Amino acid sequence: MDYIDLRSDTVTKPTPEMREAMAEAEVGDDVYGDDPTVNKLQEKAAGMLGKEAALFVPSGTMGNLLALLSHCSRGEEVILGDKSHIYVNEAGGMAALGGIYPHPIANQKDGTLRLDDIRASIQPDDSHRTITRLICLENTQNVCGGVPLTAEYTAKVGEIARENGLRLHIDGARIFNAAAALDVDVKQLVAPADSVMFCLSKGLVAPIGSMLVGSREFIARAHRLRKMLGGGMRQVGVVAAAGLVSLEKMTGRLKQDHARARKLFEGLKQVPGLRLEAEPASNMVYFDLEDRIQMTENQIIEEMKKRGVLVDWSRRGSSDW
Ligand SMILES: *Cc1c(COP(=O)(O)O)cnc(C)c1O
Repeated sequence: MDYIDLRSDTVTKPTPEMREAMAEAEVGDDVYGDDPTVNKLQEKAAGMLGKEAALFVPSGTMGNLLALLSHCSRGEEVILGDKSHIYVNEAGGMAALGGIYPHPIANQKDGTLRLDDIRASIQPDDSHRTITRLICLENTQNVCGGVPLTAEYTAKVGEIARENGLRLHIDGARIFNAAAALDVDVKQLVAPADSVMFCLSKGLVAPIGSMLVGSREFIARAHRLRKMLGGGMRQVGVVAAAGLVSLEKMTGRLKQDHARARKLFEGLKQVPGLRLEAEPASNMVYFDLEDRIQMTENQIIEEMKKRGVLVDWSRRGSSDW
């Protein structure tokens, strides 16, 4: 059966142009820094985000983990959203592998963390307390409906970070969706951040890979840690070549995805029994069932599958709205 697969933007497949670029990619051993295609991808990513350097990593999860390990030492604390991917969906890597202490605060409906909540979460200089080192934002905020955080909001969080000697990391898995949704240059959205991770493998349709960007010094630390985690790859230019097509060709077409998401939303609004909240802010459509519909999540998934449509049922994080 040919399914309409609406589970995630990760199910996108490489374009013919990507496959061609992969077949023809010039390669070398990237652990020696010798792969010209990887180097080109890293330079391009850093340039597009307005940062000094970038690192190609196998997954967004590894990119975020490298950022946390690069910024924080054991016993240090990270302020982040209670619905953030890093907190909810990355297997607790920061704690398991880095001894880093998460300090979750409530994500608001618009994906933001309240500025006052951030300020109140910063630990005082007191030997009883952990040391706050980092703030993480997620843009777009996935489970809040793919909402983009504005450059103005991010700048305010950046100011709090600077005033308190903290660093700011953005989980920008879909930062190019945020830029498309807000109609701004992606550089503006990440200017206040010390580091940013974004995914090539989602709406940008590359088969594998994410980028971590930041200062040269930060990327040097992350590079060493990537090796430690087993993420040093060899002739990986065959994969990076697809990522270059993502950056050159795919970032500009994300608005089409957003228009399709709105169209799907309009259609679903006509279906009785479904509860839809705000219009999709980027490429995601979330719906819930009216209370009178007595079906479990698995039943819905199964029934839709029988009808040729694949969906994912994601649980929101801990705070209630
Ligand atoms: C997908 C995603 C990631 C990284 O996921 P990988 O599957 O490890 O590439 C990180 N943050 C957010 C918000 C995501 O949606």
